[in-house]
Amino acid sequence: MEKAILIRFSEIFLKGKNRGYFERFLFQNIKTALVNFDAEVCKIPGRYEVKNFREEDETKIIERLKQIPGIFSFSPATKIETDFEKISEVSVSMMRELAGTFKVETNRADKHTLNLNSMQISAEIGGRILSTNSNLKVDIKNPKHILHIDIRENKETYLYAKTIFGVGGMPVGTSGSGLLLLSGGIDSPVAGYMMAKRGVKLSCVHFHSYPYTSNMARDKVEKLAKIISSYTGDLTVYMISMTELQEQINAHCDDSYTITLLRRGMFTVAEKLCKKFGKKMIITGESLGQVASQTIESMIVVSEVVKNTPILRPLVAFDKYETIELAKKIGTFETSIEPFEDCCTVFLPDSPVVRPNVYDTRREQEKLDFDAIIDRAMETIEIVEIKAD
Ligand code: ATP
Ligand code: MG
Repeated sequence: MEKAILIRFSEIFLKGKNRGYFERFLFQNIKTALVNFDAEVCKIPGRYEVKNFREEDETKIIERLKQIPGIFSFSPATKIETDFEKISEVSVSMMRELAGTFKVETNRADKHTLNLNSMQISAEIGGRILSTNSNLKVDIKNPKHILHIDIRENKETYLYAKTIFGVGGMPVGTSGSGLLLLSGGIDSPVAGYMMAKRGVKLSCVHFHSYPYTSNMARDKVEKLAKIISSYTGDLTVYMISMTELQEQINAHCDDSYTITLLRRGMFTVAEKLCKKFGKKMIITGESLGQVASQTIESMIVVSEVVKNTPILRPLVAFDKYETIELAKKIGTFETSIEPFEDCCTVFLPDSPVVRPNVYDTRREQEKLDFDAIIDRAMETIEIVEIKAD
């Protein structure tokens, strides 16, 4: 008797001729995610299988599989020799603790080893389960539990009764790579997760205003990146100082344009980083109308500085509470609400412009030696490598 975990793909099966491409990414991502366990990952037609792991690692492996985009669902299974009495014995013990309705579903790739057909096997094993557990009742149409008996070639049979749903989506890497603007807030880690789920390999940029912002704020961002990395694999965070830009804006520009100009600075740097490191898209946690800097007018004026890179805003139509729900689910919420300043909150104006227009914004920006300041900001880059556990 041996433990195994059967993994089913997500949308990959929709991809026709490209299927091999998606499967290779997923296979590699699963192997990488389980590298710290002594486990073997193999490909079998239509799915993957994790096997030869230590039984005490099973729960941790299951937790890890729940975080890998591209996995639709998986089932912890027991693998035994194809022998009717053994199948019956293990089936009965697997179903002993359960209550409610159930059915048995048998699938035979090997039609020779047992002299019963699939229907007969299901009926006979179902009967034995019923006779040992009075809390169960058969329901063929809509059962609460399904015991699967999967009789394979090589005299191997897999038994499983539990299906655990994964993240879904597409394997990380299949949609190219993107640059996530990662603040220390609630929204941007969720935005990163959502794009990773669509197959984007992430790197992050964080803008700080050291010494106005503390090292604690930076640690918090690294902690968030670490949590995100459990979905994406290893990732890089580029730390960029916005201190000079903020000081200059503060000294020379109209107060109400502080945030608009700072955000134009961030997006200009972001596009330069995309060019430098070969990223195809900019990703942010903006949501339409959430705050003054996220009205459509603000988005237009800020996006103007990005010339050749798409800006993806996966949370654009989310309400804050929807984002919070997701942040809790993916495990970033508790860290996001730790109270450290980020660069948007230092030099905060009393009343930011809610509907900036392009001409006034350009006029304010012309009071600065903007390009030179941005070039110097690029030189402050520090590269932090975050390793996924
Ligand atoms: P978040 O919770 O993600 O901080 P928010 O609701 O506080 O979002 P803003 O502060 O306006 O909204 O930021 C909007 C988006 O701009 C963020 O989701 C993030 O993608 C990006 N951003 C803001 N501040 C920073 C920063 N210091 N470093 C990197 N990106 C940032
Ligand atoms: Mg913020």
